[in-house]
Amino acid sequence: MFEKVLIANRGEIALRIHRACREMGIRTVAVHSTADADTMHVRLADESVCIGPPPSKDSYLNIPAILTAATITGADAVHPGIGFLSENAQFAQMVEEHDLVFIGPSPEHISLMGDKVQAKETAREIGLPVVPGSDGAVDTPDEAVAVAEEIGFPVLLKASSGGGGRGMKIANNAAELPEALSTCRQEALAAFGDDTVYIEKLLGQPRHIEIQVLGDGHGNVLHFGERDCSLQRRHQKVLEEAPSPALNAKERSRIGETVTSALSKLAYRSAGTIEFLYENGEFFFIEMNTRLQVEHPVSEMISGVDLVREQIRIAAGGHLDVSQSDIILAGHAIECRINAENPVTFVPSPGTVTDFHAPGGLGVRVDSALYSGYTVPPHYDSLVAKLIVHGKTRNECLMRLRRALEEFVIGGIETTTPLHQRLVENPTFLNGDYHIHWLEEWLEETAED
Ligand code: ADP
Repeated sequence: MFEKVLIANRGEIALRIHRACREMGIRTVAVHSTADADTMHVRLADESVCIGPPPSKDSYLNIPAILTAATITGADAVHPGIGFLSENAQFAQMVEEHDLVFIGPSPEHISLMGDKVQAKETAREIGLPVVPGSDGAVDTPDEAVAVAEEIGFPVLLKASSGGGGRGMKIANNAAELPEALSTCRQEALAAFGDDTVYIEKLLGQPRHIEIQVLGDGHGNVLHFGERDCSLQRRHQKVLEEAPSPALNAKERSRIGETVTSALSKLAYRSAGTIEFLYENGEFFFIEMNTRLQVEHPVSEMISGVDLVREQIRIAAGGHLDVSQSDIILAGHAIECRINAENPVTFVPSPGTVTDFHAPGGLGVRVDSALYSGYTVPPHYDSLVAKLIVHGKTRNECLMRLRRALEEFVIGGIETTTPLHQRLVENPTFLNGDYHIHWLEEWLEETAED
């Protein structure tokens, strides 16, 4: 097992990884920008190294600084966390070239799935159902129109290197397509340095359902059920739950088996998530994330498995020595993403936290690096806390969630807690009868009130 792990991230996820290391008796190295010297993950780590000024490109994305920090502290392994360098194949490769272990998948799998055109082609080859669309990239407007007419309008143009809900454009008819194609390409080039674009059928009212997996790189792959992440704003997840209110037990085991058998063919290593859109009883692959996800605690709550611990164990050469039938999924879990933002306008609200009180009690988990007196810097993602609640049934989970939201105090900055409080009273949400556009439609309707 490793003696020392460098955590190449910040905030709640750095703290989450530190906690797993601590429980495994592994020492931790925190890296941080000058804006993050006072964060909780830096305070709790055994050692810390400043890797640059506030902008991410100079610190959390600064590969030479991170590798130097790992070398001078004598770390054995690097955990990339979420975002930043976690899906950068070159970083994973360089970590290995520095005789360090990358706690994640192979660089080959990261780059395979990072390119969405290639990922979709691979998904098809390994037996995953995909969204109808172009066979690979589309170059000319004529080609785009031909594909769109075959699959039917409306269509979605997607950047092959896109991510974080960016790089997508809708075309409702053939007249709109040439302009949508050219805008999508220009934006993709500016944002991701790659103007490769492909086409997919725009599904009307699907749900976003994803399957959490762990592979050991030797062909053993386990799944931990699904998460329903359909509650989104601007293609960004707001609240996630497991199991999905839309699936029955048969559909659940069918999609779980399809995914594990597909990923066994790749001998996938580490944690990963296969994302699907689900409509009229059918699943359509959209992408694979070759890393831990923000919403992983939801699966941990229903399975009792510490996914970060497993990632570390696998990276150290461990095998998955349990079988799928040993993974018992029990009860219901919901995660609320609490952002430092105005709950109505969603304008970021960095600043000093004057009061902090986290809810507790049976079945309540808070993943947050906040504390009273901490200043949320303006430079990074606005996620500041995740409230994850577990109950024996969805109803129990909802009652507990309402109670926990009521107890949560984050003073001095604005947060999206009031949005979650409204959401957990909404009949559509309570019925579990929502799709990927529902939250935005509801926000628009209620904004007019
Ligand atoms: P990203 O990598 O940016 O997260 P995804 O491909 O995972 O991009 O898609 C993000 C979200 O965009 C999905 O959860 C869904 O809400 C929406 N989306 C993606 N593809 C389609 C599609 N073909 N039809 C309808 N909505 C889609």
